[in-house]
Amino acid sequence: MVITLTPEPGAAIHLPIAGFDARDDHAFPGRRAVVVYLQGCPLQCGYCETASSMGPARSAAAGEWHAIEGLLAARIGEFDAVVFSGGEPSLHPDLPAAADACQALGLAVGLHTAGSYPERLERLLPRLDWVALDTKGRGIDFDRISKRSGIWQRHARSLSLLLESEVPFECRTTLHWRDFTLEALERLAMTLADCGVRRYAIQLARLERCLDPAYREPVEDAPPREALEALVRRLNRHFDHLELRG
Ligand code: SF4
Repeated sequence: MVITLTPEPGAAIHLPIAGFDARDDHAFPGRRAVVVYLQGCPLQCGYCETASSMGPARSAAAGEWHAIEGLLAARIGEFDAVVFSGGEPSLHPDLPAAADACQALGLAVGLHTAGSYPERLERLLPRLDWVALDTKGRGIDFDRISKRSGIWQRHARSLSLLLESEVPFECRTTLHWRDFTLEALERLAMTLADCGVRRYAIQLARLERCLDPAYREPVEDAPPREALEALVRRLNRHFDHLELRG
């Protein structure tokens, strides 16, 4: 269940909240995490499901974050972590302050990001306990899949920052056969393994939820499930943890 919260006035931290959810088992492995979705994203992935998070960031109403913080404080004990997701949560200048507020409540802090703002990720890293880096494609394929030019280099910088940091992280790729061939997926996975990524998840796009109508249609020449599973088995030895989701 995604809960939409009523803003309260008077908060110093301004974040446009798109939702709050406690059902995602993959949000922060090993933790009972709630996910706070923030509105605003610079990318336009065809498989995107989160209409409420897409597009330019709106101005946050006074008290939106304050309402979330109060809810978290009231439910301490049910959760031990908060994950900021989106949209692109690192878009928002007040995110470090919100992460600090969560830490002050004794909660671990996670981030789901596509790595589009490496400078902001660098500032956030000391506050983070977990990162899921959305890796949409290899090199220029990232820009094609996210329909935004010049992003893949920024994502590569974010990946470098994570590899250099002590913060546990996984790379995640949403797989839609309009965007990938099996060979392209293997090249991406091997590139990540060669870079030193130890944890990787391949998530199948849910066609029925894609906002772009073209992405809701089955892809005629999509490889069979068995071929994908065989690839995952081949790739397995290159990672400490490799997961096919969906
Ligand atoms: S990164 Fe892509 S999938 Fe995620 S919210 Fe933005 S447009 Fe949607």
